[in-house]
Amino acid sequence: MVKKKMDELVLIVDDDTEIKDSMHEFITKSGYNCITASSAEEAVELLKSNHVNVAIADIMLPGKDGLELTDIMKQNHDIDVIVMTGYSNEYSYEEVITKGASDLIFKPFRFEELLLRLKKVLKNRQVIKDRARVLDKLEQLAITDGLTTLYNLRHFYKQLEVEIGRCSRYGHSLSLLLLDIDNFKMYNDSYGHLEGDKVLVRISQIIKSCLRTMDSAYRYGGEEFTVILPETKGKKAKNVANRIKRAVELERFLPEPDKVVTITISIGLTEYFKNEQLSKVIKRADQAMYNSKAQGRNRISFLFVEPPSNQNNHNPDKPEITTN
Ligand code: GH3
Ligand code: MG
Ligand code: MG
Repeated sequence: MVKKKMDELVLIVDDDTEIKDSMHEFITKSGYNCITASSAEEAVELLKSNHVNVAIADIMLPGKDGLELTDIMKQNHDIDVIVMTGYSNEYSYEEVITKGASDLIFKPFRFEELLLRLKKVLKNRQVIKDRARVLDKLEQLAITDGLTTLYNLRHFYKQLEVEIGRCSRYGHSLSLLLLDIDNFKMYNDSYGHLEGDKVLVRISQIIKSCLRTMDSAYRYGGEEFTVILPETKGKKAKNVANRIKRAVELERFLPEPDKVVTITISIGLTEYFKNEQLSKVIKRADQAMYNSKAQGRNRISFLFVEPPSNQNNHNPDKPEITTN
């Protein structure tokens, strides 16, 4: 008995019962799962509840013809279609391919030939799928930091631009966190770079675990991270920053046997101010983070610019500073 290629399902559409049944028998014997329909309408119904990979459809059908069916199937499903016809003078290969079919076979045909064509179409599908998967992986790699698996700096700039665009369009608020590990050089010097790397990985996981689904975390540089909080005002962002700060404080690192070490981070927080340049909001988050460092580390500083509507003499260069 031929082993079933379980994830591949073939649909045969032909109103000639004899041809349909003998094709069904041959394709099933060749190891494929196979279902049949006698009309385009029946085929469309079957496609609603069956994940068909390839349809083999006769052009001459009652009601909608095989080419109309091809069009419907291609529009609604990820499917390849092999079209069959007994009228070799009326249909050309170019015509059916242009209509979306993957192949054309003229009746009468030998089943062995049909099988070869079916295999070719399935192989092509696999190649396309594999290529898409590789491209997807490459795209993912291009935006990911290798060590921490957070998004990288390039993606941070791109995403911040996207979010700023959304802010300008919809008037949403947007907050930004910049986080820097405290005294990390000392940790590296004491326990080695590899142990330092483990800290970076763990802290990245902690940051991610404290975020909501719409927030995103990035490795900004060596031991610095950023978090973009879309549709978030400073007060809410501060809650997120607090969650991260506390979770890092509570973590216990074991760089050496019996050596338990705690680590802290300093955070700078700011809100995007409508129509300002991207570099300005980053600079402000950076300044806020340095305020946290200057005031003793392991804290959150908020550098805030009042919107003009709330301020008579608005001066974005004179931001308000809050720290805890
Ligand atoms: P501060 O509290 O002022 O931030 O002090 P710090 O020691 O954390 O800051 P400093 O800028 O003096 O040093 C940063 C250190 O981060 C230096 C470097 O050894 C470490 N570092 C940067 N990138 C990596 C990395 O990829 N892996 C490891 N293990 N360490 C890194
Ligand atoms: Mg730093
Ligand atoms: Mg540091």
